[in-house]
Amino acid sequence: MAGTTKRISVLGATGSVGDSALDIIAGSPERYQVEALTANENVTKLAELAIKHRARYVAIADEGRYDDLKAALSGSGVAVGAGLSALEEAAAMQVDIVVGAIVGAAGIRPTMASLKAGNQVALANKEALVCAGDLVMAEAAKLGKPILPVDSEHSAIFQIFDEDNRCEIEEVTITASGGPFRTWDQRSIAKATPDQALKHPNWSMGAKVTIDSASLMNKGLEVIEAHHLYRMLREKLSVVVHPQSIIHGLVTYTDGSMLAHLGAADMRIPVAHCLAWPERAPANTRRISLVELGQLTFEAPDLERFPCLRLALDALDHGGNLPNIMNAANEIAVAAFLGGRMTFGGIPELVERTMLEMQKRGESKPAGSIEDVLEADKSSRVVAEQLLVHIN
Ligand code: NDP
Repeated sequence: MAGTTKRISVLGATGSVGDSALDIIAGSPERYQVEALTANENVTKLAELAIKHRARYVAIADEGRYDDLKAALSGSGVAVGAGLSALEEAAAMQVDIVVGAIVGAAGIRPTMASLKAGNQVALANKEALVCAGDLVMAEAAKLGKPILPVDSEHSAIFQIFDEDNRCEIEEVTITASGGPFRTWDQRSIAKATPDQALKHPNWSMGAKVTIDSASLMNKGLEVIEAHHLYRMLREKLSVVVHPQSIIHGLVTYTDGSMLAHLGAADMRIPVAHCLAWPERAPANTRRISLVELGQLTFEAPDLERFPCLRLALDALDHGGNLPNIMNAANEIAVAAFLGGRMTFGGIPELVERTMLEMQKRGESKPAGSIEDVLEADKSSRVVAEQLLVHIN
């Protein structure tokens, strides 16, 4: 690819990962050019980004915002679409890389549309893998192009995972900062407010993933993501709490070697890696000084104080549709917590009760198609909303 310009589409362009991706793209105009950008409802930012980055096409998921977006871009020459089909159209435009940075299960269909169109996908949207990992990975395998992980832990592992010697890999370790409640007792965690939960010690991210980081659900989602991306059995995947967020992932080999990936807590680093892959390219990202850091520390995760991590590991052990059900319940729980309808302690309770109810109804069998995944996602959300009224 040296010397040619890569065409990039960014799904979820108005979000935090979208910002990182567009920053890297803008920093190397000779390497990258924007094709399509998408958002859910943020017309003003999407229109500004489209003009700034000279996008060819923009799609907004909320159809009710079409007229506003069209008006904001009138005379610009940027083509405009709205609704899920427009999102899928944007995802399927022929490009070199699609950055999948939509939050939540809403990213499943656009991710599949990108893969079906033959596009290389750089995936931040971990929920697509949690909910439909087997189907997404099967589609990627047909393409013969790896999914490039944007999640910092998975990008780290991607860079140290020796595929040719995968039989000699003993363990893959994902690090966790521990979030804002790492040192809090269980009772205080249960009563934490949205403001407290939204204060991540190291990373600046969108609201949903920040709450998931505070509950450690994010780490659970990441273990499931790693299981799919690296075809690793659950017993070979581990989590270690590393409050400085400098080491992002480790791979231990059977000869005792343990390889680690280090870098600043700056999402532009994994994004830059994905966009340049298989090459490397300079990027204006943050650097670390080991001398200034002085020391790096590690702790075991506490599954009692952070039951969401335990629930995610249980869901992975069970397999089938349970991770998808868990994700749907978690999305409802996080929205309810942020909306002041439930305490922080209610999040794991709602997730667990939804998982049990859906299992009782025999709904956790493996999904054979994306339609099955989306159907289970929908019914899990209905169940979670019904259970929500019984939880503080
Ligand atoms: P944000 O909330 O900041 O941004 C989400 C993006 O998705 C926005 O562009 C939003 O549009 C769009 N969106 C939201 N809902 C829908 C929908 N229903 N249909 C279509 N588009 C939608 O999220 P983040 O950037 O923080 O995270 C994105 C993904 O990346 C998540 O899966 C997260 O777990 C993962 N991730 C994030 C990291 C980070 O540093 N932020 C790190 C590693 C992974 P609008 O602005 O209009 O609402």
